[in-house]
Amino acid sequence: MSTPDKDNIENKDIAAPATNFVRNIIDADLAAGKFAQRRWSGQPGLGAQQLGGALDPAKIRTRFPPEPNGYLHFGHAKSICLNFGLARDYGGRCHLRFDDTNPEKEDKEYVDSIIDAVHWLGFSWEKDGESNLYHASNYFDWMAKCADYLIESGHAYVDSQSADEMRASRGTLTQAGTDSPFRKRSVEENKDLFRRMKAGEFPDGAHILRAKIDMASPNINLRDPAIYRIRHATHHNTGDKWCVYPMYTFAHPIEDALENITHSICTLEFADQRPFYDWLLDHLAEGGLLQRPVPQQIEFSRLNLTYVVLSKRKLIQLVEEKHVSGWDDPRLPTLVGARRRGYTPDGFHLFAERIGVSKADSLIDYVLFEDCMRDVLNESAERRVAVLDPLKLIIDNYPEGQSEECVVHNHPFKPEMGTRIMPFSRELWIEREDFMEVPSKGFRRLFPGNMARLRHGYVVECTGCDKDENGNVVAVHCTYLPDTKSGTPGADSVKVKGNLHWVSVADACPAEVRLYDRLFSVPAPGSRREGDPEGFEHSFIDDINPDSVQVITAQLEPALKEAKQEDRFQFERHGYFVADRVDSKDGAPVFNRTVTLKDSWGKAK
Ligand code: ATP
Ligand code: MG
Repeated sequence: MSTPDKDNIENKDIAAPATNFVRNIIDADLAAGKFAQRRWSGQPGLGAQQLGGALDPAKIRTRFPPEPNGYLHFGHAKSICLNFGLARDYGGRCHLRFDDTNPEKEDKEYVDSIIDAVHWLGFSWEKDGESNLYHASNYFDWMAKCADYLIESGHAYVDSQSADEMRASRGTLTQAGTDSPFRKRSVEENKDLFRRMKAGEFPDGAHILRAKIDMASPNINLRDPAIYRIRHATHHNTGDKWCVYPMYTFAHPIEDALENITHSICTLEFADQRPFYDWLLDHLAEGGLLQRPVPQQIEFSRLNLTYVVLSKRKLIQLVEEKHVSGWDDPRLPTLVGARRRGYTPDGFHLFAERIGVSKADSLIDYVLFEDCMRDVLNESAERRVAVLDPLKLIIDNYPEGQSEECVVHNHPFKPEMGTRIMPFSRELWIEREDFMEVPSKGFRRLFPGNMARLRHGYVVECTGCDKDENGNVVAVHCTYLPDTKSGTPGADSVKVKGNLHWVSVADACPAEVRLYDRLFSVPAPGSRREGDPEGFEHSFIDDINPDSVQVITAQLEPALKEAKQEDRFQFERHGYFVADRVDSKDGAPVFNRTVTLKDSWGKAK
């Protein structure tokens, strides 16, 4: 057995932020003074309002714009670390914007959880008296003004084709689209129709407002994209004020511009939308609605991670079909799940640094994520002793009723973390796997006639075991060598190879411990399996690992009894554990295993 201390000595530095292509763009923009003249009224608003303000004190502005329709996952954490991290490093601001332009019921539960998640990751949208927390639905009036301007300037028209007709006239990747018969409507007619759309005169789908760009564009997104649709729905924020709602591709660039965002960072699937983003903001700036320079969209590759699913739709399915206990199930890659699992905000920051930012699609190995958590926890987590599969060890020559104290360091290479006392007595819990009646080759721990060290205590010699009527070992016997206590001059007088951890039976604290494994048993859940018939697609649900959690009762050293919710420890030899933030009670902690000490997963399977 390797000693736990040795395993832990590897002490990787947490690297300074590496440069990346987004930082290069920002560096160049700052060097050119691109945003130096932008004005900021202290609030989102149209160009005229912003121009009345002072020079924007923020060197750059980024934003994190979640739709409040689910819990955040590890992919969002990458985006949060990137956007808030850039604002922090460049003397900027990062806005938290709820992208709630869809008139779906916004769930307060989701809004609150997003706010908690950003805070938990250590970021804030408040800085120097500015509080940059926004709801896109507060911008509907301004968005409608932008639409009015496009109509008046001949850059938008009301189309009255059916959805099918519109689809058919859009063309394909290889074939140009064809103009709608309504494309030549006069500005007056368009104004009138849009006014009546807003007034609620038409049913859903009767008309749609489209940008007038180019039906023959090689980029389908520029073939007169829809910008406003009729939707008779009550919005959680604006009630029944509107029965037309902006399309996401129209709303999002305007939201960025209204908030003075300089660098609008999004995932790669929006790259094809960038020409429309630029077209739209350029025309609105030309019309004086927006201040120049307008925001710039920059795309990076989204996080894909093995053994998990990072899509709200799939996460919702796992929760709703009760494959997991809830959004905060420690096996889920949600941030609430991560927190319960014991993953740390620092671990997420380190992970974001290590994976970096690029435009190349990639699938990151979950092991890399776990390594980040290990590296952070190795530095910060105090060590404790827990016996997960307890077997009684009786020291026959140690006096009954006697007990003594062993002084134990809380961290092997951080003396400043102090020491604690572990009581030692005649009866101890040891791991069942630390005794073998008939030792296998190379086994160095307890077997009859062998000597091993009880870590922090004495060297003992195993003398035998007790069995029940079925032949199961129920207790192990030994004698101790009184002169060999750790930390005394005699400690080295007897050389032994085995070293085991233990907890005094009289002082131990029994506790529920949950050992988590991966939720999916394959790296890419739902992807084609060998032997699948051609054309057959199985669901990612079929790839759920049936043994992803094991609940046991462990015997903990007494100091752990006082553990508070979310306290994190290394249980020597077993990995990193956290006191569950939901089920732990004062004096009765429940522990979740965050991650093992080493990547045992790949080897075990
Ligand atoms: P999902 O695809 O899971 O539904 P989403 O993109 O619809 O996620 P939003 O709430 O719209 O979720 O996302 C908010 C921000 O998080 C967006 O800017 C988006 O680019 C970013 N984001 C979402 N998923 C990832 C990911 N896997 N990697 C990096 N960034 C992501
Ligand atoms: Mg989305």
